[in-house]
Amino acid sequence: MDFPPLREELRGLEPYGAPQLSLDVAPVQLNVNENPYPPSPAVVAEIASAVAQAASGLNRYPDRELVALREALAGYLGHGVRPEQVWAANGSNEVMLQLLQAFGGPGRTALSFAPTYSMYPEYARDTVTDWVVGAREDDFGLDLDRARALVEEVRPSVVLLPSPNNPTGTALPPAAVTVLCEAVGDGGIVVVDEAYGEFRRAGTPSALELLPRHRNLVVTRTMSKAFALAGARLGYLAADPAVCDAIRVVRLPYHLSAVTQAVALAALRHAPELLGQVDRLREERDACEAWLRGQGLSAAESDANFVLFGTFADRHAVWQGLLDRGVLVRETGPEGWLRVSIGTPDEMMAFRTALTEVLARVA
Ligand code: PMP
Repeated sequence: MDFPPLREELRGLEPYGAPQLSLDVAPVQLNVNENPYPPSPAVVAEIASAVAQAASGLNRYPDRELVALREALAGYLGHGVRPEQVWAANGSNEVMLQLLQAFGGPGRTALSFAPTYSMYPEYARDTVTDWVVGAREDDFGLDLDRARALVEEVRPSVVLLPSPNNPTGTALPPAAVTVLCEAVGDGGIVVVDEAYGEFRRAGTPSALELLPRHRNLVVTRTMSKAFALAGARLGYLAADPAVCDAIRVVRLPYHLSAVTQAVALAALRHAPELLGQVDRLREERDACEAWLRGQGLSAAESDANFVLFGTFADRHAVWQGLLDRGVLVRETGPEGWLRVSIGTPDEMMAFRTALTEVLARVA
């Protein structure tokens, strides 16, 4: 008998996660789509004082219903979203796991379209939900007729649709969300994962606008990316209040610590400042895409804070060559492609210099 007595389907699996290398080895870290700009000293001071206040009550459990936080998040989202339509957890990863716990499970199916975020199959596996993955087109968009046909065949309880998608950066038009919400009907929920929503180019609206039209639509967001708060672990969703009530059945009691709630509330009070670098990152992304194409490479059209680029006969050699020059990118996505997160202008300059050198050697 093997020890520990792990579930059969988990045996031999590696935990998910990109390599976390020290700054000595990789001073330019462009691999996990973080925001490169830390909070300003003024915001740090506000967060510290909010945490100090929360600390004086740490003998008590935190607010289980996150009342103040849900109100603040609803205010931030706008679009007429009410606090009872909002739910939050430790990162949008936990929000989506809770959705799978409530709406997936044995005998039920979760569906997405590859290439896409590699955690989705893990949420399904961990909640014993069947996992079906359809294919994206060559430009990484969705063919709506094929997507609808797959929904009608599979009858999923949960559809996971990132917009913008990771690792390709592809945003979905509202028509795609509508088609899938209608195809899924009341038998399932459609989760539009807008982790990178704030980085969208002008003209691609948020799925939040469609919430009043589809009660099976759930829009997830995070403070990890545009808000530059990945270390705080705060993700949230907007949906029909009945969806939030369903999640409250499966969430662990007091899942969101008083410290996390205090940090998120303080950060939301400074939303304009924390989001202040989004335009700069968008411009840097567009410049990066254009530069990559200028080198004769392919770069996927991105609405996010990263760019998928390639293609390389030996992508690992290119990844390693960049790392040897202190630049850490992500070896992910379809074979032959790499993904670079958008950093500061200096970091992007280091990336361009390193890639030019590597291409001269490897290509
Ligand atoms: N969705 C997508 C598409 C992501 O890329 C990520 C993080 N890489 C997440 C969700 C989860 O982010 P977090 O848990 O930090 O909110």
